[in-house]
Amino acid sequence: LVERMRPFTTTVFAEMSALALRTGAVNLGQGFPDTDGPASLLSDAAAALRSGRNQYPPGPGIPELREAVAEHQARFWGLDVSPADVLVTTGATEAIAAAVLALTGPGDEVVVLEPYYDSYAATIALSGATRRTVPLRAPDFELTEEALRAAFTDRTRLVLLNSPHNPTGRVLSRAELELVARLAVQHDAVVLSDEVYEHLVLSGARHVPLASLPGMAERTLVVSSAGKTFSVTGWKVGWVHGPAELVGAVRAVKQFLTYVSGAPFQPAVAAALRLPEEVFTGFAAQLEAKRDLLSEGLAAAGFAVNRCEGTYFVTADVRPLGLTDASALAWRMPEEVGVAAIPVQVFCDDPSAAPSLLRFAFCKRDDVLHAAVERLAAAG
Ligand code: GLN
Repeated sequence: LVERMRPFTTTVFAEMSALALRTGAVNLGQGFPDTDGPASLLSDAAAALRSGRNQYPPGPGIPELREAVAEHQARFWGLDVSPADVLVTTGATEAIAAAVLALTGPGDEVVVLEPYYDSYAATIALSGATRRTVPLRAPDFELTEEALRAAFTDRTRLVLLNSPHNPTGRVLSRAELELVARLAVQHDAVVLSDEVYEHLVLSGARHVPLASLPGMAERTLVVSSAGKTFSVTGWKVGWVHGPAELVGAVRAVKQFLTYVSGAPFQPAVAAALRLPEEVFTGFAAQLEAKRDLLSEGLAAAGFAVNRCEGTYFVTADVRPLGLTDASALAWRMPEEVGVAAIPVQVFCDDPSAAPSLLRFAFCKRDDVLHAAVERLAAAG
């Protein structure tokens, strides 16, 4: 294995899910829902498969899906997107990797919020660029101007932004996004805005797409995915859109990573993006109740629960339990407590960033969450 990839031989999600399976633990580690998305989505994909849409689709994605993404962006976020500037990818993961590989190389710096989603670090390592982290710290995970400013240099090429944010559950405010916008413009950096949790926003918070801020559409690549919005994380249908020149660069890389993406899923996702608004808001309402159920259970079990405004995830601090090392606890918990969670420290460079935090996924059936809460309570 090449040296730059040696720190990335395993993923915490695969390891923790395997451990949960082996021990029979309730898996609140890897973030995936345990109920299917809209019935029409599933039957549309099955129909596409049966009607023979099983060969290579067009490289940039089928026209219906590119149009549906553009319409969705106008309908929900007021963004003016041309279908020609939408590229369908194999999940958001590929969109991110292709963009980072297309736009950065050795000597370039990529600004990322810390904690960061694990694929960001591996992808930046693949490109040979250097990551510069901006700390978001518990319990509020606020983005400060000072921290952001400190990460920008004259080598900053790309900002890899993520809001709603995995793993903290933060939804960045307009004021925080304006800080990012201002610095990106000052340093003439492109922003890759990972908005996969765009619809998983809980009440009290509002998702503001970065590209909607003045001057940002021309330098922002927006990434999202059907996986999160429609609870089909295994389908791996994502997309990226932005200025033609930037999307063209991403397309150049994507065509040699995967060439094309999942033919029969594309018409189904296109139709789903046009479903009534209740489909989108309904899932967020369910998630809100789930966040509350799990947060109350965690608090009752003695954890200090942090702010959570969206995504699948809530973080909790183990210090009130008299512990300091959340990572050690996370690797013991499946066996000893019967619950799996992810230590937040694995998403950080700074060893002092989050040693006492665990990330719990609440995108699970209520009976599953109740079982987890009971086991945590019983473990004292
Ligand atoms: N995004 C999911 C999470 O954060 C997991 C995806 C994966 O397994 N790579 O839990």
